[in-house]
Amino acid sequence: MYDVINHKKHGGALSDEEIRFFVSGFTHGEIPDYQASALLMAICLQGMDEHETAVLTDAMLHSGDIADLSSIPGIKVDKHSTGGVGDKTSMIIGPIVSACGVPVAKMSGRGLGFSGGTVDKLESIPGLKTAIDPKRFLSIVCETGIAIIGQSGNIAPADKKLYALRDVTATVESIPLIASSIMSKKLAAGSDAILLDVKTGSGAFMKTLEDSISLARALVSIGVRSGRRVMALVTEMDAPLGCAIGNALEVEEAASTLRGSGPEDLTAVCIELAAYMLMLGGAADDIAECRALSAGAIGSGRAYDKFCKMVAAMGGDVSVIKDGFAKAPLISPLKVGKTGYIARIDAEACGMAALALGAGRVQKEDSIDYSAGIILHKKPGDRVSAGETFAFLHTSSGERIREAEDILSGAVVISELPPPDMKTILAIVSEKEVIKL
Ligand code: URA
Repeated sequence: MYDVINHKKHGGALSDEEIRFFVSGFTHGEIPDYQASALLMAICLQGMDEHETAVLTDAMLHSGDIADLSSIPGIKVDKHSTGGVGDKTSMIIGPIVSACGVPVAKMSGRGLGFSGGTVDKLESIPGLKTAIDPKRFLSIVCETGIAIIGQSGNIAPADKKLYALRDVTATVESIPLIASSIMSKKLAAGSDAILLDVKTGSGAFMKTLEDSISLARALVSIGVRSGRRVMALVTEMDAPLGCAIGNALEVEEAASTLRGSGPEDLTAVCIELAAYMLMLGGAADDIAECRALSAGAIGSGRAYDKFCKMVAAMGGDVSVIKDGFAKAPLISPLKVGKTGYIARIDAEACGMAALALGAGRVQKEDSIDYSAGIILHKKPGDRVSAGETFAFLHTSSGERIREAEDILSGAVVISELPPPDMKTILAIVSEKEVIKL
């Protein structure tokens, strides 16, 4: 291991044997954390080329179970978002794609810190279970065309150990390490095609468009080398997506978007992401046709019906989707102090405010208040008058409101002139090209 660390420290490309020796030794507890940390830091500083990144991904992918989805007919399409604030897109896009005849067998993650996770959001539906055994998972997908479950315990265990170490050694922000971490799990989850939603901006891992495009290219390259159909969209995450932040609040917003009355930015990004998933799934060759299919699934109510069917099949109480969730005991308005235009709503700060209200976890083992969160009443570009309500804070604990108000007040920038329109999709990355929009 000393020689492997030294090799990378001097900027060399690691051999396949060196990479596999490291991943296998570390996963089995034969390589201590201090040597693994040193190698991770060397990779962070010196990088890895495409081949090394692909071998690292493959070694991590084969460190545990690999899902077999072959019993589900058709091209199975998965989707992964690099995570953000108010990102409830999986709960909207999955049902749209499934309603258009492309099966969705998806494993999702939990939230940590300011960034939410689909599994927590779905679990805010009373009765709904996301820990579903593989046989039942496959039968739900075969019967209803869609299931979104939690990641099984033994998918890419090497990534689980490596990620925990990266988190405490300042080695998260490395494109080859992020790309191999994401793709080892996605490839092990077994779908034939994968659409990646790489978020960019304050509420994302990658804060700049250039870094986000580099990550998107690395993800696509790994997927294509593994024989899957893969594309990536780079999407805006400077401001929260939609208006709801917090688990049950986001499920309600996902349901209203599926009924055709969701926020404009959220609806637009979901139609676009679903269209690319449909194209990868072979529903049509032309993106314009896929966009029409995607919008049609919302307009006809078929996508909403799919969502309700999935919730019921996973044991959830569908009445909360139809009639709304029980609300948090405390709902407090936050007003703006100035007249003007909302120039910016910092996504990361909104995520931190929702966390302060009890909507997320600081430590992995923390419990969540599903009803807690924020509903934004204003979005970037909206006109506001001093004293007007900007957002409502939902929580179970009065003590939490003050801290959340302070954070959220600092997240908003009001200007005299309207800000330029924000684009929701910033780049499309395929095997062949990068198109900046
Ligand atoms: N998400 C992951 O799964 N891994 C990373 O390294 C970063 C984001």
